[in-house]
Amino acid sequence: MLENSNMLEKSRYAPLFERVRIGPVTAPNRLYQVPHCTGMGHALPQTLVAMRAMKAEGGWGVVCTEYCSIHPSSDDHPYPFASLWDDGDLGNLAAMADAVHAHGALAGIELWHGGSYVANLSTRVPSLGVRSTPARIDPVQSQRMDRRDIRELRRWHREAALRARKAGFDIIYVYPSHGYLISEFLSRSLNDRTDEYGGSLENRMRLLRELLEETRSAVGDRCAVAVRYAANGLGDDHLNADEARDVVAALGHLPDLWDVVIADYDEEMGSSRFVDEGALEDRVAYVRKLTGKPVVCVGRFTSPDSMLGQIKRGVVDLIGAARPSIADPFLPTKVREGRLEDIRECIGCNICYAHDFRGSALRCTQNPTMGEEWRSGWHPERVPVGTGGSVLIVGAGPAGLEAAHVLGKRGYEVALADAAKEAGGRVSLESRLPGLAQWARVRDYRLSQINRMPNVALYLDSRMQESDVRAFGADHVLIATGARWRRDGIGRWYPRPIAPLNQSGVYTPDDVLSGRLPGGEVVIFDDDHYYLGPVIAIKLAGEGVRVRYVTTEGRVGAWSQYTQEQERTQRALIEHGVEIEVNVALAAFEHSIATLACVFSGRTHGVPASAVVLVTSREPDEALYRALVDAGDGELGVTAPQLRRASVQRIGDCLQPALIATAVYSGHRAARELGGTEQAARRERVLI
Ligand code: ADP
Ligand code: SF4
Repeated sequence: MLENSNMLEKSRYAPLFERVRIGPVTAPNRLYQVPHCTGMGHALPQTLVAMRAMKAEGGWGVVCTEYCSIHPSSDDHPYPFASLWDDGDLGNLAAMADAVHAHGALAGIELWHGGSYVANLSTRVPSLGVRSTPARIDPVQSQRMDRRDIRELRRWHREAALRARKAGFDIIYVYPSHGYLISEFLSRSLNDRTDEYGGSLENRMRLLRELLEETRSAVGDRCAVAVRYAANGLGDDHLNADEARDVVAALGHLPDLWDVVIADYDEEMGSSRFVDEGALEDRVAYVRKLTGKPVVCVGRFTSPDSMLGQIKRGVVDLIGAARPSIADPFLPTKVREGRLEDIRECIGCNICYAHDFRGSALRCTQNPTMGEEWRSGWHPERVPVGTGGSVLIVGAGPAGLEAAHVLGKRGYEVALADAAKEAGGRVSLESRLPGLAQWARVRDYRLSQINRMPNVALYLDSRMQESDVRAFGADHVLIATGARWRRDGIGRWYPRPIAPLNQSGVYTPDDVLSGRLPGGEVVIFDDDHYYLGPVIAIKLAGEGVRVRYVTTEGRVGAWSQYTQEQERTQRALIEHGVEIEVNVALAAFEHSIATLACVFSGRTHGVPASAVVLVTSREPDEALYRALVDAGDGELGVTAPQLRRASVQRIGDCLQPALIATAVYSGHRAARELGGTEQAARRERVLI
């Protein structure tokens, strides 16, 4: 650990902790939490304040809001965006700015107008567009803006900027990307205006220029003006890469900070299955040279060496982060103190984004305390000291590892046993599948923590039976034995087994994960709808198997739309030569024929199949738990004399087969609350 500032000066990472002047304000270091959605926004202000404050406490030099609507004509309901419509919104946002300032960080706010993208389901105000254009999801179109509307928009933006300054923000954004209103004006295709806001590039960028100038004149004395800009344009139909560069050349001097992104959101915040760390560099690096202004850009940076490389090569001045700051709010502190092995690296799974997309507060696979800072009073780096005693954890998957890690920190004597020869459970197995290598970080972070704890012992190759658990005599027992994929087809679609089903040709993901692969012509039946069915399809296709992927949904891996992976997933299957049939269920499998039934009409047809892989649902592996507790009884129903003092509970997939994030959270909560009373989570609600 680096104990004092002298040591930091000698650290190779010292450049990351240099101050950076941004117009009239100065960032205390180069680590910058860019605006990112939270699923909290105006709906969960206390949850939001505590979460942002935690980032500042963890050492991020700048902490920004999510997209913050400037007016009721930009209402993204049901997604909980931030809002700054009138002075009534000031209190919540000021609370965030104050909380961020309390830890010495700067607070940034991303002013936003959604334009045609939103449908204003809550406010019922007609949405505004450069022309009348369909909304992103709903069957409504925007109102074409006339000159008066543009003048109004400029007034709203200016008033919002003044309010943001009043709330205490240091950096105020103008936001002309990601398909929102200002980017509609930049678009050659959408912008068909014949007035001074349409036609030439000069005209199309007029609104952006005006908003930058007006924001600067309104608040520029005290606040920095930032622009969030897609450096490679908005796609060839809208603003090509050359035009994008021309805009930067023309307006480069106006903002104090260029926060650069790229046009393809699937790539900008791509999952680790498809996009590597630092992938945006080649398309954004020119902005700093052209403008001479400070530049920030994301890249899912978790390695301080990669961050350093960005600074040394002059790509950016500030290292932008959304996901790495979610996975580890204390990443800057850990780099500063030389505790690199303590960094909880983002695995690039986009479960955080999926929750926001579902309208729920952020959750994170790596950081179970994300979103729980206010609700549960959890701190990502601190856990309460335990009441003492010993704990046996059976199963070293994500749930068991996280529980062992937290209980070890709390001072318990922990024994963690697993039947397998390696720790990690499902993440060790799944991380060997195509594209999932980074998921092993869930295991590696926790193993590296517990390996340094003298009070935690890991026993591999140790299958535990009921008698072993009883003989062990621990004060507490956590059963984290996971779940098994079903072999009968029961799942979302079928409440009963598929029949007939020739079992000799039936495979499950567990078979594939353990190396038992089907050959010949294989039908994968995906009723799970997330990543595993498609990833297995890619794996088998890569092994030369002829694969037909069938799903009860209308798209490949339909739920992965929420993790921003669906389109790339479907493209990958197409590129691997996988036959795709959607909106069908596997109805039967015998005599080398798989019968597929249309989910709408029930009409069937047969396809040749030597084997089927059923990705339907899982059954908790709870036999050990059941043997230890009274049948049908609750968590503490232990009657055997050896276990009379012990508490026994299930955690992770053994309790509830779900996401890896759910298993980690389950292990964390059980471990945090062990030996104490269960804490009721706080609720944010409007009371009348
Ligand atoms: P989770 O996601 O809940 O952590 P996993 O399926 O990833 O669950 O991990 C469960 C782990 O439990 C696996 O590594 C498996 O080897 C282990 N396991 C299952 N049954 C036993 C048992 N009886 N004794 C020891 N380990 C077990
Ligand atoms: Fe990273 Fe996944 Fe956590 Fe998001 S949920 S921050 S992608 S580890």
